[in-house]
Amino acid sequence: MLRCSCRLHGISTGTMEQTNAIITHRIDIAPGVWIIHVAPDGWELPEFEAGQYAALGLPGTAPLCADVERDSDAFSSSDELIKREYSIVSSPKEVGYLEFYLVLVLDGDLSPRLFCKREGGRIWLDETIEGSFTPSQAPDDSNLVMVATGTGIAPYVSMLRTILTVDEPRWISLLHGVRHSIDLGYREELMSMERLCDRFSYFPIVSRPADEVVRWPGRTGYVQDLWTGSVIDRAWGRSPAPRDTHVYLCGGDAMIDAMMDLLGRDGYEEYTKESPGQIHAERYT
Ligand SMILES: Cc1cc2nc3c(=O)[nH]c(=O)nc-3n(C[C@H](O)[C@H](O)[C@H](O)COP(=O)(O)OP(=O)(O)OC[C@H]3O[C@@H](n4cnc5c(N)ncnc54)[C@H](O)[C@@H]3O)c2cc1C
Repeated sequence: MLRCSCRLHGISTGTMEQTNAIITHRIDIAPGVWIIHVAPDGWELPEFEAGQYAALGLPGTAPLCADVERDSDAFSSSDELIKREYSIVSSPKEVGYLEFYLVLVLDGDLSPRLFCKREGGRIWLDETIEGSFTPSQAPDDSNLVMVATGTGIAPYVSMLRTILTVDEPRWISLLHGVRHSIDLGYREELMSMERLCDRFSYFPIVSRPADEVVRWPGRTGYVQDLWTGSVIDRAWGRSPAPRDTHVYLCGGDAMIDAMMDLLGRDGYEEYTKESPGQIHAERYT
């Protein structure tokens, strides 16, 4: 498990011109895992669709913050902005700020800099929002299976906050895999959604139960095990099939490749512009 303390490897934090947004809210939910609200400073956010992403950035001169001893020469120290994409967690219905769910990558270039930023801190937010990992890629009446590892839950929270209604007409299931239960971000909100919406089901799963301080009473293994274990069949009262279900995959390559393989065997095909299948993937790594 990560222990994070702040160690500064830079002295300048970049110029005001490079930053155009302010962190208005920050919640640290687990070591090295945190949520921020970012508000534009003096400009309007563009409209966007749930599931899309925006780039965040900081100059290479911004302080690095991490728990590990590193050679600071190995990291950028120029004034140039370091930019990375982050899925938007907030719904397009929420105005004035964007919410992001972040994990500290210890050997990364940007996340150890973002981790140092507290409420009131300035960062760069791209004025353009992009991405086609959106529910609108699936027909309105199609059932949805959302599969995530780690922070890959982010776009689904935005989608669910936007499309889920109490009398949901289609079946929606969310499968979320993490190493430790402490990393099950948004768990309480998702459990409330599940209680309120009969056709929404949420399946968290933990892959390293032996590390838990208090015994994890829930499912253990990988998200792929939830798919092969037919948890959705039991929630929906029948098996999802390519003719009526679209599957969204978000997170690390290993999970996405393993799920693609399983889904391919069940007759699902990847969605592309040329050939609109039922599998939609957003790769973070
Ligand atoms: C469309 C898109 C949306 C994304 N949304 C999010 C998000 O909502 N939250 C988030 O934390 N990250 C997200 N990422 C990843 C993010 O863009 C950065 O890659 C990540 O923050 C690491 O950046 P870095 O500069 O610190 O490390 P880098 O120097 O860029 O990368 C270091 C290593 O970290 C790995 N890595 C990247 N992302 C993760 C991750 N999330 N968990 C574990 N290892 C990772 C990379 O594969 C690489 O090996 C998203 C990526 C894409 C392409």
